[in-house]
Order: sequence, then C-alpha cells, then structure tokens
Amino acid sequence: MNYNEKVKICVDRLKHSKKIFVITGAGVSAESGIPTFRGKDGYWKNQSPQKLASPEGFAEDPKLVWEWYDYRRRLIKGCEPNPAHYSLSKLERKYDHFLIATQNVDGLHQRASSLNVVEIHGSIWEVKCTKDGKVEKNTETPLKELPLRCSCGALMRPNVVWFGETLPEKQLREIYDFIKTGDVDFTFIIGTSALFYYIIDWAQTVKNYGSFLVEINLDNTAISSIADIVFLNQAGIILPEITKQFI
Ligand code: NAD
Repeated sequence: MNYNEKVKICVDRLKHSKKIFVITGAGVSAESGIPTFRGKDGYWKNQSPQKLASPEGFAEDPKLVWEWYDYRRRLIKGCEPNPAHYSLSKLERKYDHFLIATQNVDGLHQRASSLNVVEIHGSIWEVKCTKDGKVEKNTETPLKELPLRCSCGALMRPNVVWFGETLPEKQLREIYDFIKTGDVDFTFIIGTSALFYYIIDWAQTVKNYGSFLVEINLDNTAISSIADIVFLNQAGIILPEITKQFI
C-alpha cells in the first residue's frame, strides 16, 4: 500500500470514528528540537539512565540529577510545539471522546492547546518534596540553587517517573477507564519505541476490542506487527497530512 492510500484509509476511518485514543512518546517532540531517549542522538546514547533517572541515582548525587533536569527544562522552554502537536490538538476538537496518553514530560501537547492529556511519566514543570510528597508547579529556568530544596528544608525532586518506579495511579486509572469500555474506534501510537510493557498492553487491549491501530514512527517497533497501518515517517509530516484531508 502506498503512502497516499494509507493516508486515505486513515481519513476514512477517522470520519467514521467517535472515540480516539492517542499514545505519544519522545518522537512526537523530536521535530521541536527535543532529543529522544533511545534514538541515534538520544540521551541514553551518552548518558546513564541509572545515574540520571532513577531513585538510586538521585540518592547518590542529587545535584547531578538536578543539573540534567535544569538543562532539559531550559532546552524545552526554548522549544515550540511542532505540526504534529498542533494536528492532534485540531483533531481533538472534532471529537467528544479523545485522549492523549503521553510519555513526554515536556508539556508541549498542552502548549499546542490539547485538552485531554494524561502525562503518565509526570511533568518536568512540577517538583515534589521528598519528605511529604507535596507537588508544586515550578517553571523557573534556570533554577537558582541546585539541588532544589523545599521550604521545609527537604530535597525536592522532579515530579517525573524514574526507572524502577511505578506509574501514578490516578493517571493509570484515567487511561484504563478510557479504553476498558472497548469502544475506542481509532488509535494512534506515535513516536514511541514502545519498550515499556504498559504501552504494548494498551495498544494490544484496544486492538483486541477492535480499534483501528495506526503507528507513526521512523522505525518499526514491537507494535508494528499488530498495527493496521504503519507510517515509517516523521509525525510532523504525516499528522498534518491526515488532518488536512480530514478537517
Ligand atoms: P524513545 O526515545 O525510547 O523513542 C522515541 C521513538 O520516537 C523512537 O522509536 C523513534 O524512532 C521515534 N521518532 C523519532 N523521531 C520521530 C519523528 N520525528 N516522528 C515519529 N517518530 C519519531 O522514547 P519513548 O518511546 O518516549 O520512551 C519513553 C522514554 O522515556 C524511554 O526511552 C525512557 O528512557 C524514558 N524515561 C525517562 C524517564 C526520565 O527521564 N525521568 C523516566 C522513565 C522513562
């Protein structure tokens, strides 16, 4: 099937769909200039996830971890949402039931005016007290003093999910509540290496219920074999093309 045929099928399916589920990963923000984690120029090529994104790494060297998050916060602040984010936000306006489950902590979906976004790995713009767990919004860049401390004196940490930690319960429930009713008509899975079991589980669940599954990625992933359509291309090219023909 060629590219134009794939786009046409997606557009037709979207026209006949009432409920849309979208899973996104770092690839959806790559065209905004934010590095992915596992790609060619990804963070984990030269840096250690154990040192920078785990509770053990934070306990060992909180300043180093905070320096990395401060660097990423500054980088993200200088980036804008790209056409992939904006296309999803436009598409959402056409549906009563539309949910984005994102692994991204950058907030770019919200900056593109997406409404129903569940951040399953937390937000880089929130900080959490390591003593009482209180979460605060914090968008200051650069942070003045690292590691960041709470007014109570305890260390603050980024409110993100690190390796070895479980996903936040409330966000998990929101996603399961959305997909468990078995009526998702159309699912996009965009820019994720799909290495976490829950990503595969959500895609497989909606697929088992009969959802049409479309993957957009530069490479094949564990999802590709169950997807109805795979676009091996940039999200910032494919999504605007689909929405242009649909809206
Ligand atoms: P990833 O880096 O593993 O994968 C990015 C995917 O996007 C790749 O499959 C790549 O082919 C694709 N891609 C790149 N550019 C694209 C484009 N323009 N259009 C479409 N696709 C594109 O990121 P992920 O899948 O979001 O995985 C979640 C990541 O979160 C993990 O890699 C993990 O390391 C990371 N993580 C970070 C923390 C933290 O920082 N605190 C905690 C847990 C997990």
